[in-house]
Amino acid sequence: MKITFLGTGTSQGIPIIGSDHPVCLSDNPKDKRLRVSVLVEWDNYSIVVDCGPDFRQQMLNAKVSRIDGIIFTHEHADHTMGLDDIRPFFFKQGDIPIYAHKRVLKALRKRFDYIFKTENKYPGAPNVIQKRIKNKPFTIGDLEVVPVKGHHNALQVFGFRFRDFAYLTDMKTLKNKEVDKLRNLDVLVVNALREKPHPSHFNLEEALDFISEVKPKRAYLTHISHHLGFHDNVQQNLPENVFLAYDNLEINI
Ligand SMILES: [Zn+2]
Repeated sequence: MKITFLGTGTSQGIPIIGSDHPVCLSDNPKDKRLRVSVLVEWDNYSIVVDCGPDFRQQMLNAKVSRIDGIIFTHEHADHTMGLDDIRPFFFKQGDIPIYAHKRVLKALRKRFDYIFKTENKYPGAPNVIQKRIKNKPFTIGDLEVVPVKGHHNALQVFGFRFRDFAYLTDMKTLKNKEVDKLRNLDVLVVNALREKPHPSHFNLEEALDFISEVKPKRAYLTHISHHLGFHDNVQQNLPENVFLAYDNLEINI
């Protein structure tokens, strides 16, 4: 299985428009972060987790020519607003499956009403196949996907386990029985916003505590704010099996 970090930034992306914060002005490509998303590839399948406003650029950067579906963690704009840009895939492949909690599907139907229209639909609009996720395993091809439920402040969000890889973003709290789904991982990806606490995201300390509890072989941090600091400085101070993810990083599992 191959994982590509398509974006590792928090909701505004880094640099932030108009910001003169030193991290936003950094020349290091590892300090430039598109909105958070990963590409998961195995056998002949490729799926994307979340589809934010940078989706088009991310598909171009990673040279993705086909997708077998999009899985959504939750409905916030930084995770969903690229849905219109599935059109090139739809024109080539036909209807694109989207996997999401029923509340997220409802939000997408409202936001992208023209995509979900069944009558007098504009011919250039894409079609999707709605696949509702509950908190139980489902399959894409031969791959089992295990949802991991958590909360982003009061909002329910899903992370996902694919074999020995798990991807969690926008988490603040998880119940023990959900954490139990994350045993014996090779790689855990988890959100770490900044050092200061935040009401809806793990800060760095909470993310590191969570990693110590889950005990994956390796962990990568994502959904990063410019307030966390320069990539190279932050990396120096992390435990030896924890890495700050950066855009376009590829890992094989
Ligand atoms: Zn987010």
